[in-house]
Amino acid sequence: MSRQDWEHAVDRELAGLREQHLFRQRRVVTLLDATHVEVEGRQCVNFASNNYLGLTHHPRVIHAARHAAQAFGAGSGAAPLITGYGPAHQSAERRIAAWKGTENAVLLPSGYQANVATIQALAAIGERAGGGTRFLLDKLAHASLIDAIRSTEAPHRIFPHSHLAKLDRLLADADPRQLQVVVTESIFSMDGDAADLAGLAELKVRRPFVLLLDEAHASGVYGPGGAGLAAELKLAGLADLTVVTLSKALGSAGGAVCASAALCDAVVNFGRAYVYSTHLPPSAAAAAEAAIDVMADEPQRQRRVRALAARVRSELGAKSLALPPGDSPIIPITLGSERAALEAARVLQDQGLWVLAIRPPTVPRGTSRLRVTLCSEHRDDEVTRLIAALAAFR
Ligand code: PLP
Repeated sequence: MSRQDWEHAVDRELAGLREQHLFRQRRVVTLLDATHVEVEGRQCVNFASNNYLGLTHHPRVIHAARHAAQAFGAGSGAAPLITGYGPAHQSAERRIAAWKGTENAVLLPSGYQANVATIQALAAIGERAGGGTRFLLDKLAHASLIDAIRSTEAPHRIFPHSHLAKLDRLLADADPRQLQVVVTESIFSMDGDAADLAGLAELKVRRPFVLLLDEAHASGVYGPGGAGLAAELKLAGLADLTVVTLSKALGSAGGAVCASAALCDAVVNFGRAYVYSTHLPPSAAAAAEAAIDVMADEPQRQRRVRALAARVRSELGAKSLALPPGDSPIIPITLGSERAALEAARVLQDQGLWVLAIRPPTVPRGTSRLRVTLCSEHRDDEVTRLIAALAAFR
């Protein structure tokens, strides 16, 4: 393709996105504190971040990050198998494994990479064992899980969202030599609903499969000390591998896979996204470790964000807004068209409420929405303003 042709293709494709209201644009957002932002000179209450417990701005978390940067430097300087794996990483891994109740944990620079490296390791295990690996993925699983599977040559099947009867049929159909890996989230990122973990536990008794559970949005918000939804339901041993992000309720950055020592070693050896990337900064690891301590010491944060979620869900329900089932602080208001979702977000932003429109390909076509998220640090009067403003979209 000539330069002229590909430049034309770029312009045409971007113009197509604009016409379909699918163009994405960055805005510089200054985080003023855990729940307030300034965007283009306007101060807003932030109802769009995943900082569910406000820990991005917790003094103990900031102190831990600062202390680790002073002690070990601003960056890790190399991939973890070279010189990038230091005492802050090792200490955070031990803390995360204890928190999740697994034998071991492996830190990665992002939750996205944690999913990619974990899936790559599972694909390599099946391939080396001879029968290969087959991934069975919930239809609404996060893009990082889809991309992870695409980065391997392993086959995959997608089952309808939370449809365990269909998953059961797919498992019944499996080639017994193949490693079957079921991939799902515990709290879904864009719908805020929960996977049927009890149903998966029942299925696991009948069918052999490995369960990879992404607890990105459940960690911090559910379970004792924020250990996640599986821990809350007393199903902590259900997942063979659990991925957590350090970037959401933990207020830091990075991801971790929690599993047996052998599976963690498999990620370290076969997870290309682990091996070939500079490790996360020691400050991020130390901040995440401090966040886990804060969650244990300040359980009122989890109680508060869940009470706010219950309040918003019940008051919006009383105002006839249709919400998907669930009790999480992720509350989608589905409006349908991209244009309607963008316009609704603009109306809210004009009222000083920072809420964003979520459009395809992040969500299926025809389900563009506002994605509202709550934080333990939101004030009651701010939430009252949010509810009043959202009532306009019933
Ligand atoms: N998994 C889920 C379910 C997510 O929602 C996200 C991020 O939005 C990730 C993984 C990736 O995590 P990170 O942002 O730390 O890369």
